[in-house]
Amino acid sequence: MNVATILKMKGKGVVTAKPDMSLLDVAKLLGQHGIGCIVIEGDDGKVAGIVSERDIVRAIGNAGAKVLKEPVSVYMTTTVVTAREADTIDRLMSEMTTHRFRHLPVVERGRLIGIVSIGDVVKMRIAEAEMEAAAMRNYITTG
Ligand code: AMP
Repeated sequence: MNVATILKMKGKGVVTAKPDMSLLDVAKLLGQHGIGCIVIEGDDGKVAGIVSERDIVRAIGNAGAKVLKEPVSVYMTTTVVTAREADTIDRLMSEMTTHRFRHLPVVERGRLIGIVSIGDVVKMRIAEAEMEAAAMRNYITTG
C-alpha cells in the first residue's frame, strides 16, 4: 500500500489557511474540523508552511494568549517535509518517526493534493495486517 491508496480511501481534501490568518482563527479552524494541523498556502498556491496544535500551545506557553492576534506565519514551520503518491507506508512511518511529527502533506508537481496523518498510517497498517491474517486463514482452511 502507498500514499495513493490512502488518499483514495480518505479523500484528497486538505484544510489550508493563508500566512496572514491570525493564530486564533487557525486554532478555530482546527477545532471546527477536528484536526491537529493546518497547511499554510502562499498566494502562489504552493505550500508555505505547516502549523500544528503543538506550535500554538508552545507559542501561548512562551509568550501568553496575546500571540493569538499575530499572523500564523510567525509560528508556522517553513521547512515542510512532504510525501508523494508513490511513497510506501513504511517510508511515511520512517519520516514521521525520524522527524517526530504526525502529518505529511502530499505534493505532486508543486501542488498540494492531500495530507496523511499518523492516524491514517496506523489505520492502513491494521487493515493490511487483517487482510494478511484473513488470507493466511483462508489458505490453511481451504488448503
Ligand atoms: P505534529 O506532530 O504533526 O503535530 O507536529 C509537530 C511539529 O512538527 C510542529 O512544530 C509542526 O509545525 C511540525 N511539523 C508537522 N508536520 C510537519 C511536516 N510535514 N514538515 C515539517 N514540519 C512539520
